[in-house]
Amino acid sequence: MGSDRLIERTNAYKVVENDKKHGFFHAYLLLSKDAKRLREDMKTFAKLIMCEKGGCGECRVCRLIDKENHADVKFLPEKGDKILTEDVNALIEESYVKPLEEDKKLFLIVGADKMPAVAQNKLLKTLEEPPANVIIFLGASNEYALLPTVRSRVKTLSVPLYGEQELYDALLPECPDGEKLRLAVSCGDGTIGRAKELYGDTKLESLFDFTAELLVNMNSSRDVLEYSAKIMKMREHLGDVFNIAALYFRDMLAESEGAKADNPVALEKVRGASGFNRGSLVYALEKTAEAVRRASYNANETMLAEWWLFAILEGKHIWQKS
Ligand SMILES: [Zn+2]
Repeated sequence: MGSDRLIERTNAYKVVENDKKHGFFHAYLLLSKDAKRLREDMKTFAKLIMCEKGGCGECRVCRLIDKENHADVKFLPEKGDKILTEDVNALIEESYVKPLEEDKKLFLIVGADKMPAVAQNKLLKTLEEPPANVIIFLGASNEYALLPTVRSRVKTLSVPLYGEQELYDALLPECPDGEKLRLAVSCGDGTIGRAKELYGDTKLESLFDFTAELLVNMNSSRDVLEYSAKIMKMREHLGDVFNIAALYFRDMLAESEGAKADNPVALEKVRGASGFNRGSLVYALEKTAEAVRRASYNANETMLAEWWLFAILEGKHIWQKS
């Protein structure tokens, strides 16, 4: 099974599959953290809704939807990622035109969270009570950018974050370097888009090297300032450094407990790191998880990097004494 079919295993998909049997809701909202895949995932839902066989992927309807060329299935925006109020006006007008080929019409708004509030407001009435045989399907990655009035009028479907093994298995056919893929999924964020991006990123290897070097060489407060300055020079990768460090900590912990490391090749890179024992590793993992959380709240990055580095040192210090 390829990564494009992972969505079919989700509860979100099953909900719509069930609605197909018992009657569709008039408006849906697909929430997914994976903004890069949103359009593709929405296409999968369009096929499920419109295809007689429930999204076979091969019939004329499915093929036309794949090409975004079906007369009764409209994607918005057609190009780019901006949705203007005029586009919404056109959609509303078009929703009153009868379906041309099928018994229903489907409008998909990709990135509905990027619609200006005016456009969202225009859509309200249609969302609440679309013309007969019309289904509106919104897709968004940031639910908070949608007006509460929009959210209350749609049936919400959430795409979950995928597990590492699930992502690995699904991506292997298209990302054949298993070792590299393992690293990409384990420092990704549980989305297909990010895992593929990391797999294709030539920086991945150097990020692993840098993070290993940091764990091996950072042993004093002075080192903290040096390494936080280095991290800030590549601040767009701050989250990656946290994720990679967590991966090293997990493997070091597994090894210290006599268990098998997930990434034995990567683990070799931190061989020289000192002061890490069970206590300091568990501590470092907790602090790293907290750093990831803080990063998602737009914390000051320099302070966050320093805080995290000091916490790792502090853990080594605490657990040395005990
Ligand atoms: Zn089909």
